[in-house]
Amino acid sequence: MSAPHDPVQRADFDQVMVPNYAPAAFIPVRGAGSRVWDQAGRELIDFAGGIAVNVLGHAHPALVGALTEQANKLWHVSNVFTNEPALRLAHKLVDATFADRAFFCNSGAEANEAAFKLARRVAHDRFGPEKHEIIATVNSFHGRTLFTVSVGGQPKYSDGFGPKITGISHVPYNDLEALKAQISDKTCAVVIEPIQGESGVVPADVAYLQGARELCDKHNALLIFDEVQTGVGRTGELFAYQHYGVTPDILSSAKSLGGGFPIGAMLTTNELAKHLTVGTHGTTYGGNPLACAVANAVLDVVNTPEVLAGVKAKHQQFKTRLEQIGEKYGLFTQVRGVGLLIGCVLSEAWKGKAKDVFNAAEKEGLMVLQAGPDVVRFAPSLVVEEADIKEGLDRFERAAAKLTQA
Ligand SMILES: *Cc1c(COP(=O)(O)O)cnc(C)c1O
Repeated sequence: MSAPHDPVQRADFDQVMVPNYAPAAFIPVRGAGSRVWDQAGRELIDFAGGIAVNVLGHAHPALVGALTEQANKLWHVSNVFTNEPALRLAHKLVDATFADRAFFCNSGAEANEAAFKLARRVAHDRFGPEKHEIIATVNSFHGRTLFTVSVGGQPKYSDGFGPKITGISHVPYNDLEALKAQISDKTCAVVIEPIQGESGVVPADVAYLQGARELCDKHNALLIFDEVQTGVGRTGELFAYQHYGVTPDILSSAKSLGGGFPIGAMLTTNELAKHLTVGTHGTTYGGNPLACAVANAVLDVVNTPEVLAGVKAKHQQFKTRLEQIGEKYGLFTQVRGVGLLIGCVLSEAWKGKAKDVFNAAEKEGLMVLQAGPDVVRFAPSLVVEEADIKEGLDRFERAAAKLTQA
């Protein structure tokens, strides 16, 4: 018996979904590697990667295998019990990073929520309630819960929901002097995205992160790196802090960690972790066996010299060709980013029109992303194949040609 609402179409979205998104006109129904097909059977190349999530493309055999194997064993037990995939994943993350301990949750916002609560808790326990201030950066993005929009440096996401979380200030990104002027002994944490993702793919300067580390140490503040977008191979290292050589006290991860299955993680040291004693924080699904089984498979594939070196090589391919396209059509002034998180900064004539580029690319059968109105963002699979890179960039060039001729 078929459901009364089959078939569903894009128009249904406008009828039955809360209107907080504006999805594209087509509905993807199937993916394999870096290709996606829509309801009409049209094939697209995916350089969007579900917003830097599909780190191994679509339907990667290792992930499908891990998920289906776990699906036949055990889905969920809650944190009243622990489970094998969660413990294995924690071991892998601890072995591969500065961290001694992992807390699992279901999204980037939740990983940051845990990070901010931990930072406040540590300061409260060690120094008392006065030390609770968090310094974040202008234009930063940390998620959509009330705490994380309050910490995020974009008032458009935090205004209009009543009183915000207080004790949070925002300083310009990559501006060490501004951070120095703001930080004090009341600061419990400084939170930085090693590369600002949502607001335009802006990489931090090494000296900025080094300086932030020194200032935090001087003021007994914790350094939190939000690696929700930059983590799990995206930069060509497992985490971006390893690319920069600056170690945080707390790191948040999500997006690529699950390769498309929802999971988030907060990583930290023994000394800090001990402040989240039994009952102080939690989430029903955190460390769910299905999510952790997939994340284990993601790490097994991504955290290998071949895949990480491949990211660096592919970066160069994208950058070279995108610079050529940008120059030829007068579309961008700069191609920036690290690894396979790449932002093309639109030229004066195209400022504010990233959505037009998105639409033009879609017409040519290519999925890209915006990062604000002035930057076109690419966050493809880390194992995107040679033929797909070439064909995708050919499609992008056709889109650029048509857009600039029109
Ligand atoms: C996407 C993102 C988040 C939020 O992650 P969700 O899974 O959407 O909650 C937080 N921080 C950064 C840097 C992100 O890119």
